[in-house]
Amino acid sequence: MGNIKERVAYLQGLTQGLNVSDHSAEGKLLINIIDVLDDMAEEFNNIQMVQEDLETYVESMDEDLTDLEEEVYEDMDSEEFVEVQCPSCHETVSFESSLLEDDDDLEVSCPHCGDIVYDSALEIVADDVNNGQINSDFRYGIHPGI
Ligand SMILES: [Zn+2]
Repeated sequence: MGNIKERVAYLQGLTQGLNVSDHSAEGKLLINIIDVLDDMAEEFNNIQMVQEDLETYVESMDEDLTDLEEEVYEDMDSEEFVEVQCPSCHETVSFESSLLEDDDDLEVSCPHCGDIVYDSALEIVADDVNNGQINSDFRYGIHPGI
């Protein structure tokens, strides 16, 4: 765009060098046309600056989005599962470990026999309720992995 401004400036110099005056109709027209060209060159310049600002802004948003995506997908990748053994049928039941951090009451039932294998309200497994004692090995019984 600087090129356009330079060329308009050259035309302005030319009108002076050629003694184009606004006393003649043609001279008046030429000088006014060059004035309009000068305004347009200025306007182009402003638009270009705004455009560059926007590009910078969009680039930084794109970078932020990339960071965010990496974080989100990383979190999804690192989603861990806990496995417990069903006390009734001894099938292994796995569920997302993030469920354990939930404040809501959580009951996990065995998909094979329907027995409750985990109850967040009790913080113990069904097997322990039956025995009337809390199995201290329970925490060790839950291990991350798929
Ligand atoms: Zn079961």
